Amino acid sequence: MTGRPDPVGPDRRAALTAGLAVVRTRIADACAAAGRDPAGVTMIAVTKTYPAGDAVALTGLGVTDLGENRDQEAAPKAAEVAAAGVTARWHFIGQLQRNKARSVVRYADVVHSVDSVRLARALATAAESGRDRPLETLVQVSIDGDAARGGALPGAADADRGLGPVAEALAGLGSLRLAGLMAVAPLGWEPERAFARLAEVAEGFRAGHPAATALSAGMSGDLEVAIGYGATHVRVGSALLGMRSTLR
Ligand SMILES: *Cc1c(COP(=O)(O)O)cnc(C)c1O
Repeated sequence: MTGRPDPVGPDRRAALTAGLAVVRTRIADACAAAGRDPAGVTMIAVTKTYPAGDAVALTGLGVTDLGENRDQEAAPKAAEVAAAGVTARWHFIGQLQRNKARSVVRYADVVHSVDSVRLARALATAAESGRDRPLETLVQVSIDGDAARGGALPGAADADRGLGPVAEALAGLGSLRLAGLMAVAPLGWEPERAFARLAEVAEGFRAGHPAATALSAGMSGDLEVAIGYGATHVRVGSALLGMRSTLR
């Protein structure tokens, strides 16, 4: 049995309302500066480390998309939000181990962090039995090419970790749908340089996968730059919900 989450109090509701107004304005301004329609940018509220009550309150304020980065936290939170009678679109955005695939496909609508052919296959197998419609997937791209830090490698021949092979795997597996690319600006890189590089990679990628138009890039600190370089999904945590006490 999953309990209903505790509702937020009036002060927390006011803080979330204010955070949301700020972020919506930032997105609108960035779209105006880039000559883009704000309808082309989906804001994902990243609720990691915050309780299900916050997620429910955000949906009450019009947020449709929620993001989490750890299965241990996301699975029970998604169940609690559902128990509150709320339907949200859940995005899994964190590093994912293959042994968690079976759990993640049950609540996630989109997985942003596929960076190996082996993970793609594990998700496909899990999605075949664990859900009744295809799982949307994005290839997480390594912008700095550092294989140790996660992300598929653009231009690499690596049969498991190359961007090409991972995208081909996702496009070819029936229980998955290839929706696009995701990236995080590497530590120590200017967002401008990181997202310019990502836009280049995305252009080449779309030549081979024209229907996979999603570009998940930009967080609280750099969403304007990401929108300027074509982000269709921004993943916003601290600017909406407050600073997290843990570094993740
Ligand atoms: C935590 C997280 C975010 C949100 O980060 P903020 O800086 O709090 O907006 C976005 N993307 C990923 C992959 C994350 O893990």
